[in-house]
Amino acid sequence: MIKKIKSVNAYIKEYFEAHPNQDIEHGKVVDYVFKFIPKARDPWRAVRMLYQRGWLIQVRKGVYRRDPNYKGQDVTALFPNEIREEIFRRDSYRCVVCGNGKHNGYEIHADHIKPQAKGGTSTLENGQTLCSEHNLIKKRYGVIEFLGKYCRSMIERAIQYKDAITEKMFREILAVLKRYKAD
Ligand SMILES: [Zn+2]
Repeated sequence: MIKKIKSVNAYIKEYFEAHPNQDIEHGKVVDYVFKFIPKARDPWRAVRMLYQRGWLIQVRKGVYRRDPNYKGQDVTALFPNEIREEIFRRDSYRCVVCGNGKHNGYEIHADHIKPQAKGGTSTLENGQTLCSEHNLIKKRYGVIEFLGKYCRSMIERAIQYKDAITEKMFREILAVLKRYKAD
């Protein structure tokens, strides 16, 4: 008979369920998973996913808690269909960064300006249209990096249109970003 191997997720859940309402740090859970699956790939990422799906509470950075009575909102959930459509319509079905969109065959996504994991809501005000590429860039980079790329692409476009005022504005924003990035 083949012994069924539990998944990384199952071990993580098992650990948190054995320690309800306790603040659990990174190392403890990861060590627990590695005890059973020495070659587990990035178990900490799996912990973060459980938090994003509303299964865990984030106490502070790197510390999570399982409250059996808590049912958080799934922050990976999408915008409701009608809100997504409103976002697209407001942005004319174009990526707000590069302008590609439905009209020239690019796939568009509704993006949460303030990420859900940081409390951003699925509202029209917190939504923007992005193409696949810029959606990915934003997810991969933090907000400052994303805004930096956005400013640089806007500066390029402003130069192209000889639009000195817009160019100046984005250069100023870029300077502000640089100030906050330095740490
Ligand atoms: Zn784009």
